[in-house]
Amino acid sequence: MIAFCMREFNFSEGAAFNRIFVARAARKVPAMLDALRSGAVHLTGLRLLIPHIDEESHEKVLALAAGKSKREIEELVAALSPKPPIPDDVRKLPNRELALCTPPATDTSAETPPLPRAERRSVIAPLSADTFKIQFTGSRAFRDKLRQAQDLLRHRVPNGDLAQVFEKALDVLIAKVLKERFAVGRKPRRPSVPGPVASDSHDAPDPMKREVYERDEGRCAFVDESGNRCPARGFLELDHIDGYARTHVHDADRSRLLCRTHDQLLAEQLYGRVFMERLRQERKEAKAAAHRSRSQTSGVARRTCPGTSAQQRLL
Ligand SMILES: [Zn+2]
Repeated sequence: MIAFCMREFNFSEGAAFNRIFVARAARKVPAMLDALRSGAVHLTGLRLLIPHIDEESHEKVLALAAGKSKREIEELVAALSPKPPIPDDVRKLPNRELALCTPPATDTSAETPPLPRAERRSVIAPLSADTFKIQFTGSRAFRDKLRQAQDLLRHRVPNGDLAQVFEKALDVLIAKVLKERFAVGRKPRRPSVPGPVASDSHDAPDPMKREVYERDEGRCAFVDESGNRCPARGFLELDHIDGYARTHVHDADRSRLLCRTHDQLLAEQLYGRVFMERLRQERKEAKAAAHRSRSQTSGVARRTCPGTSAQQRLL
């Protein structure tokens, strides 16, 4: 049947498996096909749910899965059938442990061949409603830092439990980056000035960064015509709605957080596509030149600029 579906319908192996398994399961629970037809649950989701659906449970399980993404359904499955925690495991991969640390293709000094994509991919898989299996490949330097952190934390985490060590490390990292990028947690040096502030520096004042970040709850503030807000929380930039390059004014009420895509889109609308494309090209060339000079002076540590918004780059 798999071969037939692949040959006759040009399905990939995965697509063929999904359809066949779901079709078989739907013989016993026809409501699965209703959920598929109505668009309530997608095919991949139904396949994940098969072991947890029977004549008795299907209504409840399908209702819980309705409208959920694949990742959310994986979490639902883990909650329905929790797995025990897995033990900590730091393992050496044969002759490849440096691969992830090597810069991309242009650096020919790397002796270690890159890892195959499947081995490079990190895994965050739910084990139960509140626990996850997390797996990734790190460099030797990473392993050394991990051991150092475990040793330094012995008084608090005597057994060096990886989950606890990483959670503490992430707490420190998140607080540091929030402070650097959005001044969250930074102590004000002087009382903040309410309202708009004219300034020659495109770098917004700390109180404004903090206010905008907290008001927008660390999430892109773009809302589409249907009223749906963009869910992005990564690549966030502080955006001046009226364009800092035009006003030279910082104003929390006229600023918002935007993800990179919406930052670019709205900057194009404000300043024009041709201008923004020229800016992007200049930036690309500057990046390539910087990379070339970095390869010539490899080994020298350099600081990289934390994200710069499209509007800030105009200056
Ligand atoms: Zn966005």
